[in-house]
Amino acid sequence: MGRQPILLWGDPRLVAPNEPVEAFGQELHTLVTEMFETSWAAPGLGLAAPQIGINLRLAVLDLSVGKDPEQRTVLANPEITSQEYRMSMEEGCLSFPGLFTTFERPKSITVRAQDATGKWREIHGQKLLAQALCHEIDHLNGILLIDHIRGLKRKMFVRRVKKLQKAGAWG
Ligand SMILES: [Zn+2]
Repeated sequence: MGRQPILLWGDPRLVAPNEPVEAFGQELHTLVTEMFETSWAAPGLGLAAPQIGINLRLAVLDLSVGKDPEQRTVLANPEITSQEYRMSMEEGCLSFPGLFTTFERPKSITVRAQDATGKWREIHGQKLLAQALCHEIDHLNGILLIDHIRGLKRKMFVRRVKKLQKAGAWG
């Protein structure tokens, strides 16, 4: 119980296939609680199960970082059903601590997902919420921050990671 260590880029579990969530019982509730606690403690806006080594299509989001219970969102088996417009925003990830990069995401999206009890619902997100939803769903498809950047930008980003690894600041 409680906080779990967050896996960093390079760990194969971050890119392993994720199984659908099928059991919505007490075990899932416990896991979801652990995931919120881990995300808040980091602190982060959300966390995907593979980031703590659990290869399930499950993520949590809380843009208030523990302040507003209304904002706690469980995403089990989420799918993007529509997306509109594009915007460029700075983005970080708990699996790339201290690093940020900028790339385009949809500005407005609709996601269909189950909650911790298995109930399906639609979530509409704009801007930061759209970005956060896309980010967590990417994790469930094994797509990481670094997969969105190319060329020199990517080379520079990898160089920054290597520097942190060398300094012992990476896991
Ligand atoms: Zn992330």
